[in-house]
Amino acid sequence: MQLAGHVLDDGEDLIAEIEVEYRRQFNTEHLGSVVVSNRRIIFIYRSDGSWNRFASHQLLAEPFAQYRHGELDSVFIPEPDLDQVSQLKTDFIAEVEAETGVSYFMDVLENASREPPVDPRDCTCEHISSNKVLVEDENMGLAEHFGENEFRFVSCADCFRIYGRYRRGKKTSLNKLFSADWLLSGDFSPASIVELGEDDAYAIHHIPDGSTRVQDAVLTLSHIANRSDAVVSTYKHEYQHALCYISGDEVAGYLTWEDHDRGPILSQLFVREEHREEGIAATLVSNWYEYVCDTDHYFADELTSGGRAVLSSIGHLDGDSPRAREVLSLTPMAFG
Ligand SMILES: [Zn+2]
Repeated sequence: MQLAGHVLDDGEDLIAEIEVEYRRQFNTEHLGSVVVSNRRIIFIYRSDGSWNRFASHQLLAEPFAQYRHGELDSVFIPEPDLDQVSQLKTDFIAEVEAETGVSYFMDVLENASREPPVDPRDCTCEHISSNKVLVEDENMGLAEHFGENEFRFVSCADCFRIYGRYRRGKKTSLNKLFSADWLLSGDFSPASIVELGEDDAYAIHHIPDGSTRVQDAVLTLSHIANRSDAVVSTYKHEYQHALCYISGDEVAGYLTWEDHDRGPILSQLFVREEHREEGIAATLVSNWYEYVCDTDHYFADELTSGGRAVLSSIGHLDGDSPRAREVLSLTPMAFG
């Protein structure tokens, strides 16, 4: 049921209605909606069979939505409304949990996946066949099946130590997966190399449906990033682009973005632990803006403090018309 028609005023344009659902095994119940118009965001939830307005917030900047195959993917709230909307979302989730006794899906996932049961230093695992393995698919869901032509991320089930990835039932270690030799062979297209004017560094622009090897390296990096303090959302290879930074003979880091009419949306930025001292993050973003972006400005989705520092260091967040504009992405909310 769409609630937008009941809450919007005349002359107010609907940008999108975000569903709030309670997902059970066999059916889904509508718990509420977040209605986003060109000037307001309204949080609504159901309690004892009636709809209640939790909060309504007047927006200073106009939000925009991303649809894919006719379905709402995300709504982007630009600054300066980010902090207030982010706080309202948190409060809204708490209210829905308190009213209905259900749990927000992301909280359940995060609590379950972040801490390994065994400290890696105490674990006796050495290689994949010696121990219990945790096999995850590209969305970080548990996956039981091997031998398919699909990406599988493999780590120790006890300590989360990362071994590598499987594809077509074959394991590839991290060293191989991140080596330039490996990435530049197979179904790689030389046209995707971006020169950075440096002697021992260049980048690879990976488009959706590009080289499987590069895609797997980025998928693996995004899994590693998700397990570190640098919180990065999952890389969606079906529609996101990636720029991989190759330093010497291996991948040092990457960033991802997706296209939108309003400008590209930078979604992830990650540099591997062993390359953190090299200032790669700043080089990566400035080169991406310079050589790959075709617009004056871009959006940066939910910057972490580290990401904000990187964009500030290259002056992208400053001035009268900053190159980067921060946005908060809101996606359909699931409770379970
Ligand atoms: Zn282990």
